[in-house]
Amino acid sequence: MSNIVAYIVSRELIAASSQLPSNRGRSVAVHALIHALRLSKHPHLLVLRPTPASRTALTAFHTRSYIDAVNSKKASEGDSDSSSDIEDAFGFDSDCPRFPLLASYVELVAGAVLTGAESLIDGRVGVAIAWDGGRHHARKDRAAGFCYVADCVLALMRLKRTKQRIMYIDLDVHYSDGVSDAFREPTRTREPQILTLSIHHAAPGFFPPSPYAALPTPTSDPYSLSLPLHLGFSAATFGRVWRSVRAVRSAYDPAYVVLQCGADALAGDPCGVANWCLSSADPDGMGMLEVVADVLSWERVDALGEKLGERLPSDTPIPDHQQFPIWFILKFVQFDVPPGTMQDTNAEADAGYLQEVEACYDRVVQAINTRRAAGR
Ligand SMILES: [Zn+2]
Repeated sequence: MSNIVAYIVSRELIAASSQLPSNRGRSVAVHALIHALRLSKHPHLLVLRPTPASRTALTAFHTRSYIDAVNSKKASEGDSDSSSDIEDAFGFDSDCPRFPLLASYVELVAGAVLTGAESLIDGRVGVAIAWDGGRHHARKDRAAGFCYVADCVLALMRLKRTKQRIMYIDLDVHYSDGVSDAFREPTRTREPQILTLSIHHAAPGFFPPSPYAALPTPTSDPYSLSLPLHLGFSAATFGRVWRSVRAVRSAYDPAYVVLQCGADALAGDPCGVANWCLSSADPDGMGMLEVVADVLSWERVDALGEKLGERLPSDTPIPDHQQFPIWFILKFVQFDVPPGTMQDTNAEADAGYLQEVEACYDRVVQAINTRRAAGR
């Protein structure tokens, strides 16, 4: 296992991602922060430019008509009802409006994760990071939930060609409907090459509406997993359910893990439904950084953690940088997201729920083990 980490970035990727209507300016803030903290100069980091995804690469999952629509000028020019219907059919609505660099954005974000996947497959790196990816709501034929390109699906499909098993873990507060639905197969009889597991909040009216965002049932697909949490989930709750995630990983034994690090479960996010933190003070709790470190330790890259050196202290001040947008400077003064005051209803008001999660996932692990033992 290589002890090099690929960091996929280019000026073109930052320029296109920074135009994303739902997160305008976020990409430039993230990459400028990495640059300002000199993290990109780390001797174990390999900076790779994304190769823009070709039409063939994009249509490995997306429909040709969707990619044509991405590349075309706005169909609703002239404001006729029919062209507006076409725009709606491709999901270019209020959530996902067109923007000037849309076509480049789709090619470059998909290209970033595919460049990362290639660098893992050819053994140049042990870990590949694509900060602009993780668009888990996009569908093969339409944009959805601020997501225009199914980069996670494309990465999983590329890794699948290695004939090895791959586990997808989604930390975003929203259910990974686009990714999970792409690989769900309720009637399969053989062990699949891809297992998806989404940890999220689910409630009536909370995006995305999906019958699959609930806990697995004894008859549901044990390789398309959902782990919904109630309002206010904290590092303590995350630490507890993470044991079940570890058990699934041990049973499935993947060669690759694709980790989607959506950060909207962190305290203070506008979604306002969770109370997760970046790093937990509770030794049994799991903040987002502990989860990432744990995943690195699974894949025989524990040595890599040592090589990368100590974690940035959470009180590291945000350095001055001329490329930080004003909202970023006003909002963040140090490199930390501590928990807020929101009540964790998983642990308190509904104490039996976490036991239900554990029992449910014990059954899942048993189902995976049974299929493995039967050679199916
Ligand atoms: Zn989200």
